Formats: sequence, structure tokens, C-alpha cells
Amino acid sequence: MNRILILLSSALLFTCNSQQAKNTAQTHSSTEKTKNDKEVVCFVYHRFGDSRFPSTNISIEDFKNHLIWLAENKYQVLNLSEAIEYLSNDTPVKKTAVITIDDGYKSFFNNGLPLLNQYQFPATLFINTETVGAGDYMNWDELKVANKQKIEIGNHTHSHDYFLNKEPSQRYTHFENDIRTAQQLITEHLGVVPKVLAYPYGEFDQKMKDIIKSMGFIGAAAQNSGVLNSIGDTYQIPRFPMSENYAKMFEEKATMQALKVIKKIPEENLIPHATNKPLLTLTIDTEGLLTDQLQCFVQGGKCTLHIIERTSNQMTLTLQSTHDLTTRRRTLYTLTVPDSTGNWHWFSHLWVNNSVK
Ligand SMILES: [Zn+2]
Repeated sequence: MNRILILLSSALLFTCNSQQAKNTAQTHSSTEKTKNDKEVVCFVYHRFGDSRFPSTNISIEDFKNHLIWLAENKYQVLNLSEAIEYLSNDTPVKKTAVITIDDGYKSFFNNGLPLLNQYQFPATLFINTETVGAGDYMNWDELKVANKQKIEIGNHTHSHDYFLNKEPSQRYTHFENDIRTAQQLITEHLGVVPKVLAYPYGEFDQKMKDIIKSMGFIGAAAQNSGVLNSIGDTYQIPRFPMSENYAKMFEEKATMQALKVIKKIPEENLIPHATNKPLLTLTIDTEGLLTDQLQCFVQGGKCTLHIIERTSNQMTLTLQSTHDLTTRRRTLYTLTVPDSTGNWHWFSHLWVNNSVK
């Protein structure tokens, strides 16, 4: 347990031992599972074998090990659109993972794509169209090659802007126009119409989410860690980041389960103006969970947890940072809990302080 505490407090990572991993694998493959038990674990990668940028890079060796682990453990690997459909259709429950790549760097084309092809895994690549072909970014010919293979192309907006920095009067028009521009360019150059989007920096608000829905996208990827389940919101899909710091914990993340949140107040990521220590109120499904072992974590400090109400299978609780969230732009509140079979469940909420540029 100490290992878990140290990891979570220092880097907001999570781990469980290999026995837990085996238990999870068994649970996932149980024939008693129904459609409502479906879960999808998503990963986000950026650069491959490009050690100039350690915070967004994964070594070729680590990436290869991730793919080997998925293959050996018989995971169903889908692209993001397929995974969204899997959650709602009547296909059998399987251990399911999604590999996503943001920004479309050349190192993906040179170092990541050949490995995906070797293991015949699909992935979803989110591209911000303004920089296609510039500097470190893949060009349209390379994107076409990837798309002809097993790579779904997703929309990552045109400008990759900090949309939450705009006043609401401009934010939504800019956001929608930007997405439309990216959509047009992708369709023009690649002949495909993206069905999924990734919010730049994982930052969004509820109205931006509504815009995505109204534009016909079937889902959108965020950047807070967690697992998507069948009651989860497919317009804010959590993803575990995979860069050099996290790469060795792939197995632990892949076997993580969703902590089922029934209600969340507030829904928004932007920190309310009145406070620097925002309060998050969650109502969670506690069936099978060892709730006396609930723990909350705040990046860069400590978290207080108060239980407001509990019934036989639900609990309402609050999470709050003990320190002001004034220095970091993005801060996660994370809630973890084991269940009676030894598996761990995870939920996180992203706070954005848009006064930090
Ligand atoms: Zn990005």
C-alpha cells in the first residue's frame, strides 16, 4: 500500500500487483458479464522513440512491450469509434483496449506505425490540421499511408488552441469553426470524415461538448486518467497517458476498472471563480467496493474526503484540495478504491485554471 501512496502522491500514478491483474483478467472474461459491465481502457501517446521530449515520448522498446502484453493477454484492441460502438452493442464482453495518438508527429509514422502493423493492431490518430507537414508533424501523404492501414483519423481541431482561454462570447464560435476547418481539410486530403475528436490538452466545457454532439461526432477523448464504462459519457472519454514516466505501469493501467460515478457536481472543468480549492461532489455506485479503503489524491498536494450520505449500494462524497490550485493550469482530483476481489477502480476529474497560461 505504501508503494501505491508514494506513486500517487508524487506522479498521480496507480499500481496494482500482478495477482490483481490476473484477477481482473479473469473477471473481464467471465461469461456472467452483461452489456452493462463492458469497459474500455484507453491510452494516449504522443511521440515515439524521440527522447528530446521525455514528457510526451515513449521509447520504441516500451511501446513494443505494451503491444506484446496486449497480444499475450488476448485483449480486443479497437479504434476509438469501434470501442464506442462496442459499449452499446450486443457483442460479447471482452477485455478491450484502445490506443490513441495525439498531434500526428512524424515519430509516430517512423517508429510507432510499423510496430502497430507488426502486431496488426488498429489505433486512432488525432491530428491538428494547421501543422500538418510542418516541422515534426506528419504530412498528408504520410497520413494517407497510415489511414490506408489500420489507423482511424480523428479531429484534434485545426489550431490546437487553448479554447478555455477565450471569453464564452468567442469561445464556442471559434471552437466550432476550428473543428469544421479541420474536418474539411481531413476530408479533402484523405477522403474520410472523422467521427471522433480529442479536445486539445483535454480541456473542454459542457457547451463545447454539446457542440461536438450537434456536429455529429460519436464521441470525444479527454485527457484525464480513468476507464470508460457502459454508463460513462462517450463525449469525455478518459485516457491514461503513456510517456516515459508512466510507460512501465502499462499493465497496471490496462487492468484498471472504472469507478462508476452516477452524479458529479460540478460537471465543468473550469475552476469556479469564487474558489481556489474547488469542491467536487460525487455519487458513486459502491456495489462490491471496499469503501473503507476509498482514497482521494490531488496533484501537487493533499485531498480531503468527506462522506455525505450512504445507502446499501451508493455513496455521496466530497473531494477537496487542501491547497490553492493557483500555480498549475491543470490539476486532477483522483478517487481510487479496491473491490472485494482485489481489483482496483479509478476515477479522476480535471480542473483547469485558465488564468495560468
Ligand atoms: Zn494535442
